[in-house]
Amino acid sequence: MTAQDTTPGHGVSLAQIYRARRRIEGQVCRTPLIRSQVLSERFDADIHLKLETLQPTGAFKLRGATNMIAALIEQRGQQALAAGVTTASTGNHGRAVAYAASRLGVPAVICVSRLVPDNKVAAIEALGATVKRVGVSQDEAFEEAARLVNEEGMTLIPPFDDALIAAGQGTIGIELLEDQPELDRVFIGLSGGGLLGGVGAALKSIRPQLQVTGVSLSAGAAMFESLEAGKPVAVDEVESLGDSLGGGIGLDNHCTFALVREVMDDHYQVSEKAIAEAMVNMLQHEKILVEGAAVVGLAAITEHAIDIRGQRIALVISGNGVALETFDRARQLATDL
Ligand SMILES: *Cc1c(COP(=O)(O)O)cnc(C)c1O
Repeated sequence: MTAQDTTPGHGVSLAQIYRARRRIEGQVCRTPLIRSQVLSERFDADIHLKLETLQPTGAFKLRGATNMIAALIEQRGQQALAAGVTTASTGNHGRAVAYAASRLGVPAVICVSRLVPDNKVAAIEALGATVKRVGVSQDEAFEEAARLVNEEGMTLIPPFDDALIAAGQGTIGIELLEDQPELDRVFIGLSGGGLLGGVGAALKSIRPQLQVTGVSLSAGAAMFESLEAGKPVAVDEVESLGDSLGGGIGLDNHCTFALVREVMDDHYQVSEKAIAEAMVNMLQHEKILVEGAAVVGLAAITEHAIDIRGQRIALVISGNGVALETFDRARQLATDL
């Protein structure tokens, strides 16, 4: 899985990531990288947190969605997007598409299943999108989005598997090295691989010796299992505190599988308990509320006793989409041993 001697950026070049950065400027927050005193002392390292929790939608996915919609407007003209954009997601990606489209003056329809609770639907509508409720599963919601593309001329904004999406997420990598040019290692949550692929491509292009570490859930780690198998494979979805890291990578994956294979140096999986402890830790010591997916880097360092002594580290704190009940569950899990 090492990519030391290849040119990074399979389908995503540093130039594309710089173009993404220019497009999203002013639409998306350039988030701060803060040093954690507590974690630095605890692990005898220099540990920095990239706070994507400060994005207006609470997660980094706004970068990719904004870049893709802005690029399509640039390439085809605003009029070509008059029918609107669509996706099927109730989480961070759905919110990102709703917000980005609204900012860029493009209509958006977010397809969700009828089982999605009203408060989640209201949250997406509040960002300026139309929510379409169909069927009783995520698959049926996705079929509806596909139908809107085929029959109503809408444009699909995928959650990760697209060079424009990955390039948008990759802007995090540029910012990381602007703020800390001598980073040794970056820990990044891994699901579909838009985040790790894009950020990794930027980091490896600018600073090839930097180590890119991916972290996934202990069960349903689709990208990791696909890399092991040498091709995209399907996995069962399991309920997790890190639910933003669930889901497959698509059996017809055409971008992020190859990209992650190229830019990721090593990989860990983390238990629910380690995620729970990391979530509580972030609130208690850093006063930052995070979802489980955002702290898998910290969970990995703790659970696998990864030796980072003396290193300059960044953890991508990817989002804060967590319900209070879920946080309560994390707190319970973290306290009962
Ligand atoms: C989507 C998401 C991830 C994983 O990103 P991928 O591009 O799917 O690998 C990590 N953390 C949060 C908070 C997310 O919303």
